[in-house]
Amino acid sequence: MIQRLFDIDSWKVATTKLDKEHKRLQESLTAIGNGYMGMRGNFEEGYSGDSHVGTYLAGVWYPDKTRVGWWKNGYPDYFGKVINATNFIGVDIFVNQHKVDTFVDEIKDFHLELDLQTGILHRHYTWVSGEIEIKFSFKRFVSVAQKELCIVEVAAEVLKGEASIQFNAKLDGNVTNEDSNYDEKFWLEMDRGLGEYSYLTTKTIPNDFEIPQFTVTIMMKNRVSDEKKGHTTDQEMLVQEQFDYQLKAGEKAKLTKLIAVVTSRDIEPNQQVAKAEELLRVAEDAGISKLEREHKIVWGKRWHKADVVIAGDPESQQGIRFNIFQLFSTYYGEDARLNVGPKGFTGEKYGGATYWDTEAYIVPMYLSVTEPEVSQQLLKYRHDQLPGALHNARQQGLKGALYPMVTFTGVECHNEWEITFEEIHRNAAIAYAIYNYTNYTGDEAYLLSDGIDVLTEISRFWADRVHYSKRNEAYMLHGVTGPNEYENNVNNNWYTNTMATWVLRYTLESLKKVSKEKLVDLQITETEKDQWQDIIAKMYYPKNQELGIFVQHDTFLDKDLRAVETLAATERPLNQHWSWDKILRSCFIKQADVLQGLYFLNNEYTIEEKKKNFEFYEPMTVHESSLSACIHAILAAEVGLEDKAVELYARTARLDLDNYNNDTEDGLHITSMSGSWLAIVQGFAGMRTYENQLQFKPFCPKGWDGYEFKISYRGRLLKIIVTKTTASVILVEGEALDLTLCGENVRVTDQVQQAI
Ligand code: BGC
Repeated sequence: MIQRLFDIDSWKVATTKLDKEHKRLQESLTAIGNGYMGMRGNFEEGYSGDSHVGTYLAGVWYPDKTRVGWWKNGYPDYFGKVINATNFIGVDIFVNQHKVDTFVDEIKDFHLELDLQTGILHRHYTWVSGEIEIKFSFKRFVSVAQKELCIVEVAAEVLKGEASIQFNAKLDGNVTNEDSNYDEKFWLEMDRGLGEYSYLTTKTIPNDFEIPQFTVTIMMKNRVSDEKKGHTTDQEMLVQEQFDYQLKAGEKAKLTKLIAVVTSRDIEPNQQVAKAEELLRVAEDAGISKLEREHKIVWGKRWHKADVVIAGDPESQQGIRFNIFQLFSTYYGEDARLNVGPKGFTGEKYGGATYWDTEAYIVPMYLSVTEPEVSQQLLKYRHDQLPGALHNARQQGLKGALYPMVTFTGVECHNEWEITFEEIHRNAAIAYAIYNYTNYTGDEAYLLSDGIDVLTEISRFWADRVHYSKRNEAYMLHGVTGPNEYENNVNNNWYTNTMATWVLRYTLESLKKVSKEKLVDLQITETEKDQWQDIIAKMYYPKNQELGIFVQHDTFLDKDLRAVETLAATERPLNQHWSWDKILRSCFIKQADVLQGLYFLNNEYTIEEKKKNFEFYEPMTVHESSLSACIHAILAAEVGLEDKAVELYARTARLDLDNYNNDTEDGLHITSMSGSWLAIVQGFAGMRTYENQLQFKPFCPKGWDGYEFKISYRGRLLKIIVTKTTASVILVEGEALDLTLCGENVRVTDQVQQAI
């Protein structure tokens, strides 16, 4: 069932309805961010109905002591979470001393609009009380040109009557996390200052895990239309500045609140007040319109490289732009200490931490829509965290590196045994990203310098984690959870076994190319390499000849195999209706598992193999992870099931805009948003690149008139235009390129076109 709050529009997410019943959903969908900070679509003037006020600062987190019933050796000590920070957008409004509150007050002509092209959030409504009518307008953006800045504008225009109006600009540190393990407040006040530049400095509470405490200073500079001076007041964790007006019909008042946010990630606590003030002075000198122009220029450049145009399907058009916008708002690679949290700045679920989602779903898209430096930052993040990954393996009594399922530092902070101990397939995705980057860019420099450190240690982990079954004369991996989290503790998950040996193979091949000095550094012995070779030669992979499929794990075929369509609509999603026990025993698959392997190692399998596996697994897949449908869409497109590909694409494209999984009120599914882009580019347009040859094999979905997108590839910017009958590649920037278009080898010097 879909739930749509916003109108269909190619560049906007807009509505004229204040949906009080689904306020949280509305807030998630109008979140904005700039990679450094972001917040949900909360109202500046506050709202007394059900709402989730959330402001998040990238990399500012707290290790919340693990809470489990039965402690097991090897469990992480804490679950890290990005914590809700000082709410700095607030501007309370009082009319004749009554606090404006759209939850209870009478309003009309409501309009809420997020502009995806520029990242600017607008809202206005007319407030009505007896004979008085006042139009309130709001505008806000977090600058992508100057990461520490947020700009909020609030305006009042009296349409009828006369009123005293007060704007009360606030920095409010009285915030909590909805998901804290012990209902603790995570912030302490350190300092606050009043005056022209009012500020609040807070620090995260101490912890027992040697994680540094973060100090954050947030400063505001309020300007009003008529040079009026404000009146500042404060109390614990709250700094405010009030401006009073007496307005008659036709008169207006406007407040511009410039906010600077600095954290101890970049600035020492004792320098923060000075730094914030400097940022605000520079911003003020520049003027709001220049700040806005610079912000728009950066968004313009991003869209120039990454926009996707879909003709004839406005819903899909809005979906893909919304997803690209939210991804770029979460991460654009400016800071190698940061990563892409599954909810970005839009909510608290998943703690804002790093998951395998980044390597499996974000890197494949970012390689094409941004410059290689952005993906390089994501690779660097994992290389920097290698010590943490070595620690995780040691915790499990194993050699090498086990990259975490959830982390801020490289150290695992997820504490469910079936995930922490068993979902070890994540390690392969980290290695795969190094291959993906190298294969796409053709640049082996990273692989042979830092990449090989990561590959070697991951290989050491796999070599220690496998065991040799004498009875079967084969290596095996028992007690794992595959990507399908609806089964735990399985033996020989085909995906995990396959990816483990793939990593060993890729590492051995890469080692042949590294320098002698590097080999010495890595301390690899011949015995170690022979052991890896032996595992490659004798790994066990469950398959079934008769069905022509790779089997998800040893006993999968013994289950009560049935199709998803045999389930009643009232039973779905299963995770909201079935007991966990029933889910684990069932054949229903949460997300791509065998198919994830066929996607990653796409060039190693035949179309026939892909088709058989797709046809076997897709009917049993419930896609209850948002990461699933895109992989199925890409494979469906490849094996010629075009309608199926389009149907699966639709789920990824508007997952949040249509609240498909009924959980978007908690925040957006950021890491799966790349899925819609992947489904179009790798699915419908059939983009692949192997052995230095870029290929496209496009089709145009039946309901579309055509589509176009751009990719950055080895110093070029290419535009691909697909219509119902033709596919064209245009060289927008860079040198001529040989590629394969619809099975033909062509040279693109300017533009080439093929019939489809
Ligand atoms: C998925 C995982 C994913 C996590 C975070 C889970 O529901 O099963 O594969 O890493 O969400 O997105």
